[in-house]
Amino acid sequence: MTDCLFCRIAAREVPADVVAESAEAVAFRDINAQAPTHVLVVPKQHYPDAAALARADPALLGAVFRLAADVAQSEGVVDDGYRLVANTGDAAGQTVHHLHVHVLGGRAMGWPPG
Ligand code: AMP
Ligand code: ZN
Repeated sequence: MTDCLFCRIAAREVPADVVAESAEAVAFRDINAQAPTHVLVVPKQHYPDAAALARADPALLGAVFRLAADVAQSEGVVDDGYRLVANTGDAAGQTVHHLHVHVLGGRAMGWPPG
């Protein structure tokens, strides 16, 4: 048993609106959607952020991005374009310390982010 929320969602111990799954990763809708499509993609194994995962297991990071690409396709946002975000650390607003890639689409997004 872990107290990491996204480990527990990946293990299906905590309910979530799961939209896709692969051997390595799970994708579910963000409970506080910031865009018409707002899905989080997490590895099933716990890593605190993208840097830690990139150093420890780059193939697993690739699997997370692969599932994010599949989600973008199934959500129908590929033609218009979409954004992948991995908030890392406090200044970026990371609140859950289990790597997650936000897949955001379905509306125009400004740059730079606020
Ligand atoms: P971040 O600020 O990058 O750490 O993003 C964490 C995201 O997780 C936020 O957008 C939250 O809305 C989302 N979130 C928190 N709890 C849940 C949950 N139980 N199910 C789905 N999304 C969640
Ligand atoms: Zn975790």
